[in-house]
Amino acid sequence: MKITVDRNKCTGLGICESLAPEVFEVNSAGDLVLLTDAVPDGCLAQVEEAIAGCPTEALGLER
Ligand code: SF4
Repeated sequence: MKITVDRNKCTGLGICESLAPEVFEVNSAGDLVLLTDAVPDGCLAQVEEAIAGCPTEALGLER
């Protein structure tokens, strides 16, 4: 499964990073960096929490 980010919606607050730090990182410029665009083994629940927790609904999963 591939993680998608709508860059027009992301505001760089980093809630996703706090919920799934193996996958999401907000850099010093405030831009979201995907550390991987595929869901790592064992991380699906965390990624789903991050998607649900994103206040701007910028995240998604392509199955
Ligand atoms: S939680 Fe949403 S708005 Fe915040 S950095 Fe992550 S993708 Fe962007």
